[in-house]
Amino acid sequence: MTMAIEKLTVRHGLLEAVRGLTLSVAKGETLALVGANGAGKTTLLRTLAGAHPAHGGSIVINGEDVTRLPAHQRVRRGIALVPEGRKMFASMTVAENLKLGAMAGRKGEWSIDRVVDIFPNLRKRLDHKTGHLSGGEQQATAIGRALMSNPEILLLDEVSLGLSPLIVDRVYASLDGLMKSGTTIILVEQDLARAMGVADRVICMLEGRAVLEGYAKDLTRDQVTEAYFGLH
Ligand code: ATP
Repeated sequence: MTMAIEKLTVRHGLLEAVRGLTLSVAKGETLALVGANGAGKTTLLRTLAGAHPAHGGSIVINGEDVTRLPAHQRVRRGIALVPEGRKMFASMTVAENLKLGAMAGRKGEWSIDRVVDIFPNLRKRLDHKTGHLSGGEQQATAIGRALMSNPEILLLDEVSLGLSPLIVDRVYASLDGLMKSGTTIILVEQDLARAMGVADRVICMLEGRAVLEGYAKDLTRDQVTEAYFGLH
């Protein structure tokens, strides 16, 4: 077991965005979180990364309770978040952004060379300011920055957002190798078909709870759609 989340509750003021969620993620597994806007997916990923505090419950990684650890210490334990909207330093170059990821992280096998191996378009962009890149290149940089911290668990929040279908295909094709290489991935994806296509396991959230959970191969699109709209 890589990550075990138990009875996790997360609040925004009085609003309970995650309500007593229990789930576990096995090493090397790709887990997709789906659910309508406001279901609590982004809040969950941010809480796992330490960007938002947990109100109750626990998050355990490789047997260690990290629930109260600040974000930078979780990065050192192998959690990396690629946030919604990418959140890049626009005035820094791609190479500088990638190096920043390495500085925050732990030692390991990731290098700029390896990032450009999986995102070849970045090779000729390394000295360009991130703010001048296309959406797809920015997303690749954001994922690359997370990889440079040598994560064991990669959290991806809506990597498709604002990208054309062709570019989304390319980003997922690049992620495919990572998924096969044993990196544990938790991803939020609005596109159900894609989520079910890439993930081993799917969890559908509704109002802060997991209302459906199963192996992608055992679930039908209709089942997930019903859970998505609370018809389950
Ligand atoms: P989306 O697909 O829109 O990102 P989501 O499933 O990721 O949706 P969250 O963004 O986690 O859902 O939001 C869960 C709930 O928490 C929603 O009701 C949302 O309005 C609320 N919320 C999220 N962020 C904040 C915040 N910073 N302050 C107050 N409420 C928030």
